Amino acid sequence: MLTSMIYLQPLVTKPEDFTGETVIYVYHDLDILVEKDELTPVETSKVLSYYTKEKDFISLGVAEGYYYEALFVDDRGNIPKGTRFINVRNLFRIDDDRFFYRAGYGRQIAEWDRATRFCGKCGSKTLSGTKERSKICPSCGYVSYPKVSPAVICSVTRGNEILLARGSKFTLPVYSVLAGFVEPGETLEETVRREIMEETGISVKNIRYFGNQPWPFSSSMMIAFTAAYSSGDLTIDNDEIIDAGWYTEDALPMLPSPYSIARKLIENFISQHT
Ligand SMILES: [Zn+2]
Repeated sequence: MLTSMIYLQPLVTKPEDFTGETVIYVYHDLDILVEKDELTPVETSKVLSYYTKEKDFISLGVAEGYYYEALFVDDRGNIPKGTRFINVRNLFRIDDDRFFYRAGYGRQIAEWDRATRFCGKCGSKTLSGTKERSKICPSCGYVSYPKVSPAVICSVTRGNEILLARGSKFTLPVYSVLAGFVEPGETLEETVRREIMEETGISVKNIRYFGNQPWPFSSSMMIAFTAAYSSGDLTIDNDEIIDAGWYTEDALPMLPSPYSIARKLIENFISQHT
């Protein structure tokens, strides 16, 4: 039973006794290669017969009887016949998100693999760890691991109102709860207080853990909280936030996508006020 959101048992090498089929995810930048007419990974025989010069296949793990590998290619112009690149985000399906999360995991690992071919301390060529996901420098001994960046996301309520803001990077006119990355040395609660103060001038109290959601596209981990308004007047920073306001559940603006933890925080507020 796989309980992780990546729906895969991560492995850094192929199990010796594995007899099943291999699936290879081919990536370029944020995109993954799929069959032209369906949102499925390209057939392994097609990948292997086309990318004959590639050697850097990266072990991802096993799931549901298949072994998964990733391959990162530099040239997106030359691809096997009957295939196309699409952004991994476009794989998301409400009814079955396994391909989406596996592909997101694979992209994160493949990108990390490329970024750590050389030691970040002395510049020597690194070796891949065989027991855990790591890169080891044979010259200076430095070991690096895939990075996960923690970020907090927090709903702020005041009576029957919730604080929602429009981020400057949002492409749609979506209003959401506030979020921000954790600084080294900060507790999660300190990040919550700092981000909300910086972006809106509001101080909060009663910070409570709500849940979490790994997000592979920036290697982040969203850790969600709820909080209550304590004091301050709404003054937006006009940098990360371009508009913000207090909303009641019967007059909400356009909300973030239903599968985001941001939306779950907003739905939690709605369920408490209807
Ligand atoms: Zn080194």
